Amino acid sequence: MTCDLLVIGGGVAGLSAARRGLELGLDVLLVDSGEWRTGARRHLRFSDAATNLAQGGLAVVGLSDDSTGSYANGAPDSVAAHVADTLDAGAGHCDEVAVERIVAGGAEATEWLIGLGARFDRADTAPSGSVSELPPYSRTKEGGHSARRIIHAGGDATGAEIQRALEVSVTGIRLLQNGRARQLLVDSGRAIGAVIDDPRGRGIVAASATLLATGGVGQIYQATTAPSGARGEAIGLALDAGARVKDMEFIQFHPTVLFTRRETGRRQLVSEAVRGEGAKLVDSRGASVTAGMDPRGDLAPRDIVSRAIAARLRELGEDFVFLDARHLQGFPARFPTITAGLAAAAIDPAQDLIPVTPAVHYTCGGIEVTPEGRTCVDGLYAAGECSATGLHGANRLASNSLLEGLVVGKAAAENIAARQRDARSRGDSWAVSAVRAEAVASHALEEGLPRPDLTAEQLDRLRRAMQRGAGVTRTEKGLREALDIIDSLPQSVQVMAARAIVEAALRRPYTLGCHTWLDAVDIESSGRD
Ligand SMILES: Cc1cc2nc3c(=O)[nH]c(=O)nc-3n(C[C@H](O)[C@H](O)[C@H](O)COP(=O)(O)OP(=O)(O)OC[C@H]3O[C@@H](n4cnc5c(N)ncnc54)[C@H](O)[C@@H]3O)c2cc1C
Repeated sequence: MTCDLLVIGGGVAGLSAARRGLELGLDVLLVDSGEWRTGARRHLRFSDAATNLAQGGLAVVGLSDDSTGSYANGAPDSVAAHVADTLDAGAGHCDEVAVERIVAGGAEATEWLIGLGARFDRADTAPSGSVSELPPYSRTKEGGHSARRIIHAGGDATGAEIQRALEVSVTGIRLLQNGRARQLLVDSGRAIGAVIDDPRGRGIVAASATLLATGGVGQIYQATTAPSGARGEAIGLALDAGARVKDMEFIQFHPTVLFTRRETGRRQLVSEAVRGEGAKLVDSRGASVTAGMDPRGDLAPRDIVSRAIAARLRELGEDFVFLDARHLQGFPARFPTITAGLAAAAIDPAQDLIPVTPAVHYTCGGIEVTPEGRTCVDGLYAAGECSATGLHGANRLASNSLLEGLVVGKAAAENIAARQRDARSRGDSWAVSAVRAEAVASHALEEGLPRPDLTAEQLDRLRRAMQRGAGVTRTEKGLREALDIIDSLPQSVQVMAARAIVEAALRRPYTLGCHTWLDAVDIESSGRD
């Protein structure tokens, strides 16, 4: 098979690139290891994409209805304020140029998404004096944001609506479901496609440009909010292709994940927006968990709140703290997805305290890319959670990841289309021949590639090692023990991702953002780095 653009992964980043590529006349092939199935939610969807699960919303400033809303403490919100909040949450480790480009690009990309049919919730009534027929978008606030700037859909089903709208927008695209990228093909320093396995066997795709958009690494840990697609495979694929990764030690632990005694598997998230609407974090004695930690209290950035919870749990020798949402009015209507998840655990937020604990939620680092998704390997792009533009720094600001996937996925397709146009105007052939890709693939197969997969038992060992050694708090001893186990396992692409996290963590023996180092004095605010 040949194409102009091979998109690997069908969440917000991959679908944005695929849709924009189609608009710009690229011949796009979309591959996803999950299934595009009609299911309980009535829409087609790649069920393994984290995008489906996003609850809180999309952080964006400057939409065309902004004159009627989006105020913080009476002052108008601004791109500059969103940039400042992002830099602050990122603990001084963000790439400022990337932050400005991506945040400033949010409104245009979101209007594009709305134009494709995404429907975001609107406020109940239009403000008096409004000339618009429609009320402004309803906006909420999450940890680290100085303004109510987060738009949402279906109450707390924002990601599902974005996924739905983007999937509908690529109807008719060349699509390979259950197709898993196993190996990237590189010829004289240029990425020229991939080896793809699907239930029918192994195939070779020759592509002028390849975009990795496979999501985060949550599933290499025992306890995560991330779905089964978040296996971290792009990290190993990209490293094998010669790309660089960065900031891998910054794994974000969401502070409020429903506690369960189950050892492994995806956990139910209780969105930060619940705290944004007034729920409080308390310990088993009823004392505030964050009092005295940060002036923003329960709505401080996630690293600070997760650390506060971890410290309180260590102090009390307990496994969970509580979220008290009993006083919130209209919880089921505002948070229908969370209400359903709590009901499954026999918890009624109007009556009961909600037991919560931190769990792996987001991969702040990843494949090093520009804000257009370009890696250092010609023809290889990455976008979304598997990539690192520098937007998140040492700790992602809530609701900035859907924004990043959308903006960078779209920008990557535009960059690829522009390169194709340039090549054609110079009379160069940009296309990659299937014969050449087959030859490169045969050579790789002779060398024993693709890498082996882990057995279920090996994956379990990896997850336990990562949870214990590279969890919410870290020590040199714990990280070295994790590394010993990593060394003992077959070097699969998932093990490569785990190694990248642990080695990066060992190279940073101090606390920064969501990398919490227990052996040393916390010098987070000392300006180091
Ligand atoms: C519970 C939860 C709530 C969240 N809430 C929010 C929120 O409110 N706001 C926000 O901004 N962010 C939120 N996030 C984060 C956000 O949802 C993700 O960061 C974002 O959706 C990732 O998009 P993506 O396109 O990079 O990857 P994904 O949406 O994860 O899609 C990746 C796709 O790649 C496929 N894939 C994986 N490996 C391969 C392979 N080797 N070959 C082919 N396909 C492969 C997977 O099956 C999957 O379909 C939340 C995350 C979770 C888990």
